[in-house]
Amino acid sequence: MSTEPPVVVTGASGFIAKHVAGEFLKRGYSVRGTIRRLDKADAVRRAVTRLGCDPSALSFVAADLDSDVGWDDAVAGANIVVHMASPFPIAQPDDPDDVILPAREGTLRVLKAATRAHAKRLVLTSSSVAIFYGSGLPIGHIYSEDDFSDETRNDLTPYIKSKTIAEKAAWQFVKKTPGAPELAVINPAFVQGPALDDDLSTSHDLYRLMARGLYPAAPRIRFPVVDVRDVAAAHVEAALRPEAAGKRYLIGEGQLRLYELGRILARELPDLRSKVPKFELPDVAVRMLAVFDRRLRTILPELGAQKDYTNTRVRAGLGLNLRGSDEAVTAAVRSLRDLRLI
Ligand code: NDP
Repeated sequence: MSTEPPVVVTGASGFIAKHVAGEFLKRGYSVRGTIRRLDKADAVRRAVTRLGCDPSALSFVAADLDSDVGWDDAVAGANIVVHMASPFPIAQPDDPDDVILPAREGTLRVLKAATRAHAKRLVLTSSSVAIFYGSGLPIGHIYSEDDFSDETRNDLTPYIKSKTIAEKAAWQFVKKTPGAPELAVINPAFVQGPALDDDLSTSHDLYRLMARGLYPAAPRIRFPVVDVRDVAAAHVEAALRPEAAGKRYLIGEGQLRLYELGRILARELPDLRSKVPKFELPDVAVRMLAVFDRRLRTILPELGAQKDYTNTRVRAGLGLNLRGSDEAVTAAVRSLRDLRLI
């Protein structure tokens, strides 16, 4: 066991956070997770045990992004804080502030507590959605860490805005606050790879919906994908490498269409062949249907959107050899099958 102070992981009950906690535990660190409901602690212990880790090196503090209570205790004595907690709903709320306020105010709460505790490094889990939705970019633009989404665009979902606003607030905070921890940011694409338990993230909920036959046809959208095991390794490297301070890392490997996700699901679970999307809907049909179906409005900005990007920085800068998107999705589907969730 390391004599290092514990690494703090906020939102430890989350899908990615459990893998991040496991990665730090494997490297000999102890981990202090924040959860808003302490009754989730046992599930997190079981999840890291499934990853082959010793759960006795894991402790918990209760803290909610909407309140100051608990954050000082959570980060006391820590050098490294990974701030990952943020609302990631599958359905967008009526009031955008339901996700924007916890994301922004929660990030600032954690940063302020980490500053008071003299933490050295804070790794923030932002998202590729804080990169891919700029304004006025030329056709064929290759996205990278130099790009920021424009949260004033009125076609963006509350979730996209929440991640963009929270990340910008974090950069602004460390710039203007003496004694703030060094900031490193991970911007993951759509995260796939194995689920560890039945507390599913939006990343995996999609398959449950597909398996129920809710998507007979798929809108023509494609998105960058990344495996959670690579995302976890990226967080650890960004926490430990001196040169990661002040940098963002866009992490994704390849892209998949929604339709292709369904194909992989049917390949791994042939019984679901009749349930997965059988064809792609023309964009014009999606736009017409969106007049009647609110859920479809969420994806209108995605229709025909190009998201070509470079992952050079994360590969070279953090020394990662990323798994391909087919491998990531296959691992996700197999884990859900093994957990009997689809
Ligand atoms: P999960 O929904 O599994 O995890 C979200 C975590 O945030 C949970 O632990 C949840 O706690 C916690 N949380 C939400 N609201 C609050 C709140 N008000 N106070 C305290 N904790 C809260 O999602 P993921 O693991 O997929 O996502 C983790 C992070 O990664 C998020 O920041 C997300 O935006 C980001 N991300 C995810 C991607 C993906 O494809 N999955 C892609 C890019 C970024 P509880 O268990 O109590 O609900």
